[in-house]
Amino acid sequence: MPSYTFRCKDCGEFTLFFKSMSGNKETIKCPDCSIEAKRVFLAPNLQSLSKELSSRIEKGMEPQRMTRKELGAKTPKKKATVNRPWQVG
Ligand SMILES: [Zn+2]
Repeated sequence: MPSYTFRCKDCGEFTLFFKSMSGNKETIKCPDCSIEAKRVFLAPNLQSLSKELSSRIEKGMEPQRMTRKELGAKTPKKKATVNRPWQVG
């Protein structure tokens, strides 16, 4: 079920669940005070993160890259090549 987060200037943020994705839900009436609340775009992807945040995340991911050898030893090598055969050679 898609959920949308809105911010009412009086009540603050609230999240509503909709049965379908249809319709443009940029704004909606606040269920508490019935004034127009604007949609808040919560973005889990890196694109909308601030540079500071994304660089912090990149730094945080570096140790994981280093332990990838360990992970690779655990997971069968097959998987890596089968998933991306076009990258071979
Ligand atoms: Zn409100």
